[in-house]
Formats: sequence, C-alpha cells, structure tokens
Amino acid sequence: MSSSEKSQRRISRRDFVRGAGVSAAMIAGASMAPAFTERALAQTSTGVPEQWDLEADVVVIGSGAVGLPAAIRAVDAGASVIVIETNYDIGGHAIISGGNVPLGGGTSLQKKYEIEDSPDLYFRDLTDWSIVETNGMPEYRYNDRGIQRALADNAAPTYEFLVENGVEFVDQAPDNNGAHATGLSAPREHHTIWGEGQSLESPAGAGGTSLMRPLEASAREKGVQFLMNYHMDVIYRESPSEGRVVGIKAGYTPTILPGTDTPLVGFRTDGNIDMTAETVTVKANKAVIIGTGGSTGNVEFRRIFDPRVTEEYILGGEPYSPQDGSGEMAALAIGASLWGTANQAHERNGYIRKRNLAGAEYLYVAWTPDSPIFPLARATGLRIRDWQNVICVNQVGKRFYNEFEAGYPNGTSQGSLDPYIPGDWRNASRVEYKPQNYVDAALAINEGSTAPDFAAGPIWAIFDAAAVEREKWSLEAPNTDPTFFFSADTLEELAAKLTENPYQKAEMPGANLVATVERYNLMVELGADVDFDKPTPQYKIDQPPFYAAWSTPCIHDTYAGLRINMQCQVMDMKGQVIPGLYCGGESAGGCTQHGLARCLAQGYIAGGEAAAETI
Ligand SMILES: Cc1cc2nc3c(=O)[nH]c(=O)nc-3n(C[C@H](O)[C@H](O)[C@H](O)COP(=O)(O)OP(=O)(O)OC[C@H]3O[C@@H](n4cnc5c(N)ncnc54)[C@H](O)[C@@H]3O)c2cc1C
Repeated sequence: MSSSEKSQRRISRRDFVRGAGVSAAMIAGASMAPAFTERALAQTSTGVPEQWDLEADVVVIGSGAVGLPAAIRAVDAGASVIVIETNYDIGGHAIISGGNVPLGGGTSLQKKYEIEDSPDLYFRDLTDWSIVETNGMPEYRYNDRGIQRALADNAAPTYEFLVENGVEFVDQAPDNNGAHATGLSAPREHHTIWGEGQSLESPAGAGGTSLMRPLEASAREKGVQFLMNYHMDVIYRESPSEGRVVGIKAGYTPTILPGTDTPLVGFRTDGNIDMTAETVTVKANKAVIIGTGGSTGNVEFRRIFDPRVTEEYILGGEPYSPQDGSGEMAALAIGASLWGTANQAHERNGYIRKRNLAGAEYLYVAWTPDSPIFPLARATGLRIRDWQNVICVNQVGKRFYNEFEAGYPNGTSQGSLDPYIPGDWRNASRVEYKPQNYVDAALAINEGSTAPDFAAGPIWAIFDAAAVEREKWSLEAPNTDPTFFFSADTLEELAAKLTENPYQKAEMPGANLVATVERYNLMVELGADVDFDKPTPQYKIDQPPFYAAWSTPCIHDTYAGLRINMQCQVMDMKGQVIPGLYCGGESAGGCTQHGLARCLAQGYIAGGEAAAETI
C-alpha cells in the first residue's frame, strides 16, 4: 500500500463519519471556549482563528512517552492542560513497548543496588564519540551535547517522577536487558512490572502498558483533559514565521474497524472532551508541546534521511500508532528547523530490524486476536524458531544473505566493550566488526527494481511442508494474512501468485525461484552454504506445498526531528527559539538514545518549562 493509499484510508475513515452524520459537539469542562457549533470560520490575515473551540494553558499533542509526562508536569505546576490524541486510546508506541526504561544518572533504584552513576557520567557516556556499533556506525558521536546534558540532568528526576505518579518498577538492580544506546559506564535499564492479574488494558499485551496506564490515571485524576480521535494538522503562530505559537487545528480521525460502523473507544473516557466535529481549533495560552512520536511511518518524510526506505518497510508500531511526521511538518511550516539528521541516516540501534515473524504485514508486534485493533493487524504471523527452516529471497526470487545471522544487531551496551576507556579513540578498534548482523544488505538488494525509486521490494521467507511440520505452524487465518502469505504446489506457481501482494510490483520470475531452491538443496547435500555462509544448511526445500511468507524488515525508531534546546523549546532556522513551542521524543532531533528514556525525560522537561511560561 502506498503512502497516499494509507492517508486515503485515514481520510476515508473521516468521510465515513461525515457520511453517517456528525453530531453537534458536546463540550465539557471549565476551560472551554465558545461552543464549536458557533465557531467562526473566519480567520485573521495570518490564518489565526478569531475564535477558538477549546482553550488551555498548555496544549500537548500526543499522549505517548512525551505527552503524558508533559501533561502531568504542566498540570502539577498549575496549568490547565488539553492533550490532543489522534488515536482512540492513549499511549502511542509507549503503550505497546516493552516497558524497559533506560533512565540513569543516579536513580533511587540504581542507588539502592549500589550502582555508581551520575549525571556527569551519563552525559560523558552519551557524547562519547569513540563508541561504534559492530557495523562501525557511531552511537553517540553526532549527539547534540546540550540536549544530552539536559537528558543526563533530568533522567534521575524523571525516574522519581514516574514512581510518584504510580509507575511501579521491578525491585531489582537495573541491567542491560533491552538496552540500546544507554552508555557504557553503568547498567541503566529499569523494568516496569508487568504480570498476570494486572487489570491494565493493553492494545498489544505489552509491558509498556504498566508504564502508560498509571501515567494516564494520574493525568486524568489531576484534571488533564483529553481530546481523543483528533489529529493535529496546523500549528498557529502570530504571523506565519514570527511571534508566539498561539494554538493548533486538528481534524477528526476516529478508528473504525473493517465491518463495523462505530468508532473504537479507549480504555478510559473520564476527562475526555466529547466532540466529533470535523475540525477543532484549540488556543494555547502558554505553549504547545509536540509529542507526536516521529516520522518513520511517513514514507516521503523518512526518505529525506534514508532514501532506501521505500514503502515496503512497515513501521514497528503500526497499525496501532503510525507516526506520520505531522508534528515535524506542522512545525516546519512555521519556520522550525530539523536537527541531527545524520543520526537517522546511520543504520544503528536497530533502526531497521528483521523479525522472527513472517506471513503478516505487521511483524514487529505479534498482534493477538484479543487486541482491540486485531481487525487492522489482521494476522498474528508465524514465529520462526529456527532460520534453518526457511530461506529468504528478494523480489526476483534470489537469496542474498545468511538468514541465520543477518537481523537484529546488538549494538554496544554496558559490559560489551572490555576494556571501556571513556573517550579513548582505541575503543572503536576493540569492537568486533560484524556488519553482516545488520539488515543493510537487504535494502541494498534492488535487483528487479524499476524507476523512479528502484525500491528493493519485499523479502519472502520460502519453505515447504516439511518445515511447517518441524516448526509446528498452523497456517490458517488468523495466523497468516492472505495478502502476505501464499502457497502453491510448485515453486513456479508460488512465484506467480506474489503480485497479489501490493508491494510485489513485478512478477517474481518462477525460474529464478526454482534455481534458487535447487541450488540451496544442493548446498544442503554439500553441507555448506558456499554463497552466503549460512551455518551448515540443514533442510532441503522439496516437499510440496511450497510457501512464501512476508519477511520484510521493519523500521523501528526516529532519531532525527525538530531542533530543540535544553529546555525542549523548538528552534528556527536562524537558531532562535520559537516562543511557545516545545517538542520531545522521537519528533525531536539531536539524541540517538533509543526509546522511552529520552522521550519521558524530554516530556518531563517540556511540561515544566511550558507551564512556567509567562506571557
Ligand atoms: C513494539 C515496540 C516496543 C518498544 N519497546 C521499548 C522498550 O522496551 N524500551 C524503550 O526504551 N523503548 C521501546 N520502544 C520505543 C518507545 O516506545 C518509543 O521510542 C517512545 O514511545 C516514543 O515516544 P514518543 O512520545 O516520541 O511517541 P509515542 O509514544 O509513539 O507517542 C506519540 C503519540 O502521538 C500521537 N500522535 C501522532 N501524531 C499526532 C497528531 N498529529 N495529532 C495528535 N496525536 C498525534 C500518536 O498517536 C501517539 O499516541 C518500543 C517501541 C515499539 C514500537
């Protein structure tokens, strides 16, 4: 599906609601401006609405790892807060995340387990230019030092803030499990408690729920209001590229599942502003905070940084949370600058990841049928336990790597470099060079591609009936998705079917697939993969029916975005602050740390700073 088709899908959801008859907005809450139905559509010469539908001191865009801490910090400081969220429920990627939180700098949990850490150590780590991953890519070299200093100084306070707001962490020494780019001097991964018996509703049954639901509860109890199902499209500034940011415009984006006509409703609705108007304007008396989660779900935007990542690479958080670059684009439209773009171009931190799932479009999370959005995910996928059971081929039916080794890079984390001498240029030479662990090779293969993009196209896992037996797979729906999983009695027939998949643009030559499998079977007899060094190929592919399962890598994170300063204020192309505009997390640039810690800490910073604005 192309990016324009994806946006069409969103538009058609809106159209559906419009067609069904939009009810008059029912506006609740004390801080609301005149009713939506009376809204004057007239705009000033600069496009700023003369009247607003809603109003708050601080308007937070997104309810993920940035948005909820920002909202709580702002409301704690006495500000009225509205969170605008395009999804039907809160949480973004954070609620479907593993809930492993790499905060450090001397948290109370680190202290309890006598782990030596400090803001200075954390700062030194996250700006250590000498650290490279096993493919030679530098982890921290291109970090913005001011942004790292702010992260280092606020990481431990953010941890205490999370605990104060109800988040429970496993009472054990922080470690490195799940850690990426956390620095090498101290273990910093803190794990939220996620266990049986917890009545925390989760779209993906994931640990991040035990991070986000307590924050949601705290925010709602403290009076934060939520405008769900609204997508921020425009940020208003006093004049197009001058003056303060004064508010936003958002459009109605209910999530309507296939075959139903009722929008999905989130786990909690108390504190929600009840509106279904097509658009809404929201005045921000003090500030707007962008926490929209990055741009890797927007094919055109992500290709600014890495032109290889054409449409076939699905985002890890989809279909729950697409991350469409809307925060960045709205800010760029009023003069903001991008920052730290090298960080996105580098294939590091597992920015692109091969998964051990196949046969479904959305492979990063193993969506289960009890997820409220399973009709959008459509299939659970087949878990590949042993890569000996499959070969991977490109869009023209040829193998191109060692299926066994290519995939999920470990990067460098605490304990992985011995000795680690901070800042020592020889650190780079102590890292074992293993670029083949990265899936770069997959994206470099573009045989059979065509103008204008010469896209590498899909990657298919090919296997036979004997592999199905060995893996004990059940191939029926909902384990597999009929447009991402195919079977046939011959390899030629299998190859011919693949254009039923929207990303397989040209027919895979059947002769290629036959030749690839015949050659692989010979190498199994030989006991050696002379082409790509897969360790002792074990199983022939010769028992019909034959299968092709979608096995294209996923894109995981955004590491480049808007330029911010140490207070998380958005900066323009002249290096000046855009007054009243803040940003953090994956929509902000300058920080290569993967995941939750930078997002939570930047939300924490932005919320406090925004509430303290004096107009
Ligand atoms: C499956 C998975 C597992 C992960 N596991 C971990 C882990 O264990 N540890 C870790 O550190 N990191 C992990 N991560 C990464 C981490 O979850 C993200 O880096 C983090 O949540 C990003 O925070 P954010 O606030 O920038 O974006 P998000 O948390 O994604 O929040 C962005 C929110 O903004 C909303 N939004 C977007 N655009 C608009 C708009 N225009 N208007 C209104 N709302 C909008 C989105 O719907 C979303 O709710 C994981 C990510 C995934 C996908």
